[in-house]
Order: sequence, then C-alpha cells, then structure tokens
Amino acid sequence: MTKRVYNFSAGPAVLPVPVLEEIQQNLMSLPGVGMSVLEISHRSGTFQQIIDEADTLFRKLLSVSDDYEILFLQGGATMQFSMVPANLMIPDKGADYVLTGTWSQKALKEAKKVGTARTSASSEKEGFNRIPAQGELEINPSSSYLHYTSNNTIFGTEFDYVPDAGSVPLVVDVSSDFLSRPFDVARHGLIYAGAQKNVGPAGVTVVLIRKDLLERVPANLPTMMDYGEMAKGKSLLNTPPTFCIYAVGLVLKWIDSLGGLAEMEKRNIEKAQLLYSAIDGSSGYYRGHAKTESRSRMNIPFRLPSEDLEKKFLKEATAAGFDGLKGHRSVGGLRASIYNAFPKEGVEALVSFMKEFQTTNG
Ligand SMILES: *Cc1c(COP(=O)(O)O)cnc(C)c1O
Repeated sequence: MTKRVYNFSAGPAVLPVPVLEEIQQNLMSLPGVGMSVLEISHRSGTFQQIIDEADTLFRKLLSVSDDYEILFLQGGATMQFSMVPANLMIPDKGADYVLTGTWSQKALKEAKKVGTARTSASSEKEGFNRIPAQGELEINPSSSYLHYTSNNTIFGTEFDYVPDAGSVPLVVDVSSDFLSRPFDVARHGLIYAGAQKNVGPAGVTVVLIRKDLLERVPANLPTMMDYGEMAKGKSLLNTPPTFCIYAVGLVLKWIDSLGGLAEMEKRNIEKAQLLYSAIDGSSGYYRGHAKTESRSRMNIPFRLPSEDLEKKFLKEATAAGFDGLKGHRSVGGLRASIYNAFPKEGVEALVSFMKEFQTTNG
C-alpha cells in the first residue's frame, strides 16, 4: 500500500481507514450479491437494505424520533441554502439568519431571493472570529424559522449552545461538525449536512426534517426541490447517489462500533486541545483566528508572524507529509481540519512539527 499522508483538508476530507478498507475489499462484489455496489440498481433489495441501514444508524446515533424524516439528497449543502427558504418560508413572515461566516452569508443570500430574510446577529465586523451569544440574537417571534451554522469551516468557530428561538423552528447547517458530538435533534425543525466533511464522500446531503414542517411546503415547487415529494419517495424519487449512501452507512457503522457520538466528542476534544495548546504555548508565534470561547474543534485556522513564514511553513509541512494545511483565502495563513476520522497521531505529529519550525524560524 502507498503511504497515506496526514490529510488536513476541509472537505472532501479524511475518511476512516477501516471504511476505506471495507470499500476496497467489497468493491468487486458485495458479499453474496455478485455485483459491485457501483453496479447495483437503486430499486434492488440490496440497495433498499443499504439505505434502510443508514437511516436506522442515524436514528440510533442521534436518537432521532419518528417525528423526523431522514432524506438523502443531492446538490450539496449549497442546494439547501435554496431549498430551506423555498420550502419553509411562510409568505409575509420571512426568516431570521445568524451570520457567522461565509456559509451563513451564502445561505442568507439565497433566502433573500425567496422572501424577507433578516440578519438576527452577526460577527462580521469582528472578522467572524466569534459566535454571537444567545442574548445578541434578535428573533422575530413570527419568523418562519431561525437559521444558524453550527460550525464555521472557514473561520474556525463553533456554537457551543443550541440557540433558544422559542416557538420559532430552528434550522441548522451542520455540514462541518455533524456527528462530531452528541446533538439535540429534537430542538431543531430541520438539520442539514453535506456528507463530505465528516460523514462520507462528496455527493450526498443528509437532511433531517420534522414531519409537521412538511405541511408548509408550497404546491408549486419543482419536484426535485420539494421536501414533501422527497419524503414521500423515501429519497428514491430518482436515482440517488447510491455509492455515497453506502459509504455513509459504513462511516456510521464505524462511529457506532467505537461507542457513538459521546466517544467522538471525547476524541475531538483531545485532538483540538493538543493543537490549541500548541498555539497558546507558542508565545504568540502562532495565532489562532477564533476567540477562545468560540473555538471550533473541527477547523483550526492559525497565522504565523509573516506571510513569508506561512509560505515556508506550508512548503515544509507538505514535504513532511502534512497535506491540506493551506488556509482559506478569506482568513489566510494555515488551517488544520481535524474531523472525526483524523487520527490523534496526526495532530501530535503536526504539533511537533510546529515546535520545531518555531525553534528554527523563531
Ligand atoms: C462546505 C460547506 C458548505 C457547502 O457544501 P457543499 O456540499 O459544497 O454545497 C455549506 N456549509 C458549510 C458549513 C460547509 O462547511
């Protein structure tokens, strides 16, 4: 086998090795089926079993009640920026959006094409380096919903609380921290995530929607954008991304076998603390972007004393087997994304590399 590098990419991102091994082992033929998962019909009993298992595992890991539909859709999380307002915005009532970074800005922009979308709170003036507190959120009591982004992939901030919106349904984009910690589904009306950050390969988007919200769906939506139609069709209205759903199912099995979301959270806290301690212990050589109280456990952007040093760091890190550390252009510097499947040894190795680099280039 060729050597695997430490993959710090923000997404598509690292997958668990046992998942990749199982895919490889069964790629020519699923046991007892005689065909590859890439070749089977989405109308076959085999695929029905695959999608049912994924549904069951999501329900188990997240304690999802029967009040929710779980949908496997396409178009990425970005498609949800349009589908959420198209399906859930009640004419004249509008919706409220918490702005914590690029992704929520994009979500707001799409919502404005559908109706009145208001900014509930924003940390834009501070360079999106923190999560607004509950007390800063302005929530219109008759709003169709309140939308927030649980983890900000680019700016490296993460909600450590579920906003209280009273009787206004909560909608959340969990694309970059889905299944990284226990999550209170029951407090949300709709939850969505592109799979490629923490849950599987690119190509499938998971949506959990409380069934009563389906009553809001207007009659004239394009079928492929209609949550009601997708729910009625059990995500099989047309050909779904069969391979992606299979791979997501394997990732869910992997999480379950390790002890579920509480264990994921424990590991993610450990990994994030290692990296944040290295940043905090560098006497200001490394500087994190996020305010301490808003720090993400998944995406950790950081700067060095100069852009020249950042370039040198990136070059030497890549040569040493650390891939995907280049920061997003809107923050600059470096970014380490350390999702569920990212190994603790990789974080330890990066921390050693950072210490050595500082000693040599301090
Ligand atoms: C990556 C990302 C998106 C966009 O996802 P696509 O699947 O590429 O559309 C949206 N929201 C968040 C929080 C993300 O991290």
